[in-house]
Amino acid sequence: MGLYLHIPFCRQACHYCDFHFTTNLKGQGKMVEAIGKELSLRKDFLSGNELETIYFGGGTPSLLTKEELGGILDEIRDNFSISNGAEITLQAVVKVNGPIQGLNPFAPQLSRM
Ligand code: SF4
Repeated sequence: MGLYLHIPFCRQACHYCDFHFTTNLKGQGKMVEAIGKELSLRKDFLSGNELETIYFGGGTPSLLTKEELGGILDEIRDNFSISNGAEITLQAVVKVNGPIQGLNPFAPQLSRM
C-alpha cells in the first residue's frame, strides 16, 4: 500500500505545469493542519494493511518546514501501520546556478532516471 500526500505550494509558477499548485504560501500552516486531521479521520481506511511507500509530491513539498514534515510523519505513524523498510520519498525542486561538473545530460544512465 502507498500513501501520496499532495503539497500544492510552489515558490514560482512554471509555465508548463498541469498540476494543481499555488504560489500563495499564506495557507501553508492551515493546509498542514488539515492534512493531519484528514490522516486521523481516515485511520481505518487501509483496514490494517501496512504502508510500504509514503510519497510527498506537489507542488514543492521541500517548502515544508522540518516541524511541518515531522508533524505529518508523526500523524501518519500514529494512525497507520508502516512496514519495516518502508520507502519515504519527498519530491524536491533543485535549483542549479551554473553548470554541474561531470554531469552529461545525454548519458544513457541518466535517461533511465
Ligand atoms: S514547481 Fe512543480 S508543481 Fe510547482 S508550478 Fe513548477 S512544475 Fe508545477
